[in-house]
Amino acid sequence: MFDTDLYQKVLGLSAPWRVADVKLDVASTQIHVHVEHAEGSQWACPYCQKKLACYDHAPERTWRHLNTCQFQTLIHARIPRVECPEHGVVQVKVPWAEPHGRFTILMERFVIDVLQACQTVKGACALIGISWDQAWHVLKRAVVRGISRKEAVAIARIGVDEKAFRKGHRYMTIVSDIDRGTDEFVAEGREKASLAAYFNTRTPRQIEAIEAVAMDMWEPYLQATLEAVPLASSKIVFDRFHIMKHMTEAVDVVRRRENRLLVENGDDRLKRTKYLWITSKENVPPKRRAELRELRESDLKTARAWSIKENLRYLWSYQTEGWARRFFDGWHAWAIRSRLEPVKAVAQMLAKKLDNVIRYYSHAITNAVAEGLNSKIMSIKRRAGGYRNPNNFKIVIYFYCGGLRLHP
Ligand SMILES: [Zn+2]
Repeated sequence: MFDTDLYQKVLGLSAPWRVADVKLDVASTQIHVHVEHAEGSQWACPYCQKKLACYDHAPERTWRHLNTCQFQTLIHARIPRVECPEHGVVQVKVPWAEPHGRFTILMERFVIDVLQACQTVKGACALIGISWDQAWHVLKRAVVRGISRKEAVAIARIGVDEKAFRKGHRYMTIVSDIDRGTDEFVAEGREKASLAAYFNTRTPRQIEAIEAVAMDMWEPYLQATLEAVPLASSKIVFDRFHIMKHMTEAVDVVRRRENRLLVENGDDRLKRTKYLWITSKENVPPKRRAELRELRESDLKTARAWSIKENLRYLWSYQTEGWARRFFDGWHAWAIRSRLEPVKAVAQMLAKKLDNVIRYYSHAITNAVAEGLNSKIMSIKRRAGGYRNPNNFKIVIYFYCGGLRLHP
């Protein structure tokens, strides 16, 4: 009923391997393909390729293959072992699977593709009908494979970012290649050592090749970079997205404090307005624009803080550094006079770090790429319901955002 020749073709087997037998098990909707080899074949030692006769066979193993007509398809074979004078008794390589793989190469490629498309392990498992452990095994192997294939290329512009991977503020430090849009390195924590660990993986020549580093104004990252990268202070750009985030948080603190006072006096103008103030002006939905306009024309402190925040965005819009500095002087004076403590705090911090903020005019980089990767990571995390184990989270980041060549 089943043509062994057909399966020989489907599996792409060639001599000495052949399909000996195909059995259909209707009850369990499985197809069992038994593969064997011709007698007297010569086999290559997997380490030195020396041709040797079969010494004995390892116990039978089973590999899951792509389904045929919705039937789970399993390949069974006993792998020959050779006795190499140099490498001892070792198993030979089989053409359909990688060493230690539980799936055939085609199946493994398929699992990787589905995992990437689903962006959750659970979703892929349900689609393919494999266990979480099996999928995770493929994913982990793919990352190891991808990392081992990574070429030692120089990365000119890097972004450094932190990511909370669990509630309770446990952080990861992520280094990305801004030009390729890939996450290159993930370390636990957000200490100086977390980032230093990345620089330690780089050769002196690769360190030399770093032209610019985008990061938040975070002292441990700053110190790690200053120590590892020559002339770092001329290469560090305090990232615009992070700066705007600090500023937006300041606006929100002003709003919360003001709202509390207003509510005590029976004024609920600021209730349910958080989104209006923290989003960029052009992103306010049309139906709420009139509401924002009215609030802005009031005497609210929050409205003042908002104007200062929105105005700060011009800092990155000038043609030259000189004009940007002039703009900043004016903005800074305004922010300091505002008598809004959270706003003043950001203005003071920026004034202190201005050189590396303005460095944007020498290296027009931002962490936008990292932010994009970040949101991808967050959605993966959300869909997986979080990662308890930081190491697993790391593997997942490399799998989805590492730009690695993952296929066997
Ligand atoms: Zn050998």
